[in-house]
Amino acid sequence: MRSSPRRTRRYAAVLALPLALTLNALPVLADPSPQPVPPDRVSGTAQNGVALMRVVVADQAAVDRLVSLGVDLAEYTKPVDGGVEVHAVLSPGEAQGLRDQGFDVRDAISDQGDYAANLAERRQALASAAADAAETDMLTPLRAEWFTSLDGQSFLSAEVKSSAADAQTVLTATWDSGPGTAPGSGGTTTMSRFTDAGQYMYHRFSAPVPVAQVPTKVTVTSSRGGSVTVPVTKWLGERRKPPSKHYVSDFVDHYMDPTEVTGRITGLAEQFPKIAEIVDLPYRTNGYRRAAQAQFGSGTGAAAASTFYVSSKAYGSEGGNDVSVALVRPATTGTPLSVAVTGGNVAVTLATDASGAIGSTAAQVVAALNGDAAASALLTAATYRGNAGNGLVAEAPATRLTDGLLAPATVSRRPFQMKALRIGRHRDGSKVGVFLYCQEHAREWVTPVTCVETAERLLRNYNEDPATRRLVDDLDIFVMPTANPDGGHYSMYDFNMQRRNMTDHCPVANGDPGRRNSWGVDLNRNFTVGSVFDGFNGASTTCTSDTFGGPSELSEPETRNQVWLVDTFPNIRFAMNTHSYGGYFMWPPGAYKTAGRETLPRADFGTESFFWNASGHILSAVQDWRGTAIWPGRTGPVVDVLYSAAGNSADEHWYNRGIIGWDFEVGADVYDQATKQYRAVGFQPPFEEGHEEAMEFAGGQIAILEVAREYGEDHHRPDSRLKELAKDDTSVTFTFTTDEPANVYYTLDGGRPTLNSPKLAAAGMREGAQRITVNQTTEVHWFAVDIAGNVEKNYKPDGAGDNYNKETVKVRGRR
Ligand SMILES: [Zn+2]
Repeated sequence: MRSSPRRTRRYAAVLALPLALTLNALPVLADPSPQPVPPDRVSGTAQNGVALMRVVVADQAAVDRLVSLGVDLAEYTKPVDGGVEVHAVLSPGEAQGLRDQGFDVRDAISDQGDYAANLAERRQALASAAADAAETDMLTPLRAEWFTSLDGQSFLSAEVKSSAADAQTVLTATWDSGPGTAPGSGGTTTMSRFTDAGQYMYHRFSAPVPVAQVPTKVTVTSSRGGSVTVPVTKWLGERRKPPSKHYVSDFVDHYMDPTEVTGRITGLAEQFPKIAEIVDLPYRTNGYRRAAQAQFGSGTGAAAASTFYVSSKAYGSEGGNDVSVALVRPATTGTPLSVAVTGGNVAVTLATDASGAIGSTAAQVVAALNGDAAASALLTAATYRGNAGNGLVAEAPATRLTDGLLAPATVSRRPFQMKALRIGRHRDGSKVGVFLYCQEHAREWVTPVTCVETAERLLRNYNEDPATRRLVDDLDIFVMPTANPDGGHYSMYDFNMQRRNMTDHCPVANGDPGRRNSWGVDLNRNFTVGSVFDGFNGASTTCTSDTFGGPSELSEPETRNQVWLVDTFPNIRFAMNTHSYGGYFMWPPGAYKTAGRETLPRADFGTESFFWNASGHILSAVQDWRGTAIWPGRTGPVVDVLYSAAGNSADEHWYNRGIIGWDFEVGADVYDQATKQYRAVGFQPPFEEGHEEAMEFAGGQIAILEVAREYGEDHHRPDSRLKELAKDDTSVTFTFTTDEPANVYYTLDGGRPTLNSPKLAAAGMREGAQRITVNQTTEVHWFAVDIAGNVEKNYKPDGAGDNYNKETVKVRGRR
């Protein structure tokens, strides 16, 4: 904490800053005589604009200079492009004083607006905590499950929601050690409070807890007095039929670049013409290519003023790499700045004064190059990151521009023809379509080999394996192994952490070669639903951000190709967007607005139930390969289990077209028996691990096809029941149950139920079906519709028949 005398002294030192024009004024600061507090930093509730500001300095010596100036620095330094970022508490006057001395004072990290909001939030939290403290909380069990993972280790996982949302509420879980054992004999753990966008969600185990014996019940108690006991159910492990003895798998033995992957599916289409074909997507990518560039000057610190860079007009591969620039010191004195061009060679003769000293600034050289017709036909020049460019440039030998791209010549530098492999016996739009796509994010190298493995399994098992034949005969499958080919090449050959495509949408201030790994659009943020342009959270409008949503929705050919595919083949009802890593299975909604955590609409209760049912089947298939269990806490809507991802493709497909849009994150954490710790696998594990992930999630993709086929073949009509849950003299509470995931439409006024009648909702996130309470004897009418559209008893909701369900709910005290 700060003491006010110290503050006063420091302000006194800083006060002198606006008076000092250069750092030579330091002796003034050493003057020990007391000085008045500057008016803009008087303590008070309004804070007078004092803010935590980002300051970027060239090096540690400059940090020391800030310290010696008495600047109030936070305990934080971060190496950044061109120096060190530190954070300083500054008033507007102090900030200006530092700027006047040439310090690069940037934006505020938190200002008094945040401060006021923080205080208001704190007051509210204290008030609601005080209100809650008097009351015992109510605990709602969301789930308690056990599963086995690698090596047969058993794990326990639980989630419980307290009615008291404040951080003082502590939930503790205890469990037994199997049937007939004492409660609490198995173990105990404090649960962690899960919040998102500032909102309390529920309490959970931070990671599943290894258990020696599978418990039968978990009891959760709250520090506020609430308590609930939940039976433990089994998660996954549904016994699957072993594939037939002819079933073949394991077709990938190395990471593949997008050129190889595309060649592979093209070859498959040629080899299996009866059941497969290539779909050429209409929009060519920008291509694995870049302008060639050269930078003169280091750009760091004071050198930024004398630094500039040039970019070729033609892509490097199309002549840009043949351009060169020289900065020549003339032999004679008193020479003006001039530019001469011979072929691709640009020579800038720098101005000299009477003594022969160079007198051309970076800005002058930039203007001369851009103003020369021959030079500007070859290149454009710019000062460094928006610098005014008032520093004098140095002479430099002829420097060849380069696009810097390192991929071998087998990778084309032309716009890329994206392809999808269409697999199906009847590819005429009559079958349910499934769209499997991989590698939206370039660095997720396991994903394209997962898509390839799935395609190979379908084609190579078609003749011998009846289950595979059913999938290929009854479905229309589109496999796009790389949704981001340019970025994929760049990730493999140039910058392995590349996430986005390669297209540079940055203005010249961020166009220098040092930014080459910071360009591109995050394709999974470039779609049209819940996008950053609609005000949703989890994408950026900053061109150098790794979640840059692009200049506009669908600005990129890669994303337009996806939309074209689902529009062109409207029989597509399911989509799986495979990413890496962490081991997730997710569905919409995938985005929310930060304020109030307002999500895109949640799926209705019947659809959500269908998703949970399907996840059991799909994740058991993932588990089949080597026992990996996707955690219950990593299964569910994206916004509940991961984060908000504004403008993602699954939301695009679901909200615009009703396509069930699922997401995988391959690469579940691996449990290390020796250390008893989970270990994250990363984007590019050694192929030995990457191969295992591809095998298990190809199994998951096949299981998605099984779910889709079942949906296509589902002619079973759902059956529903009314179930009373509670009853007293004045009311009855009931809900509906169904024999398969389905939506229930009901009326309480004796009317005929239709698709416009109230629909049974979810009670809350993961809390089961809504409970309906009536206070008088009520005639309930209802019917159920399953996810494939089958209506209970063949009732026609828009017809005139009365073959819906009817039941009278009797309230004792009244009639
Ligand atoms: Zn990803």
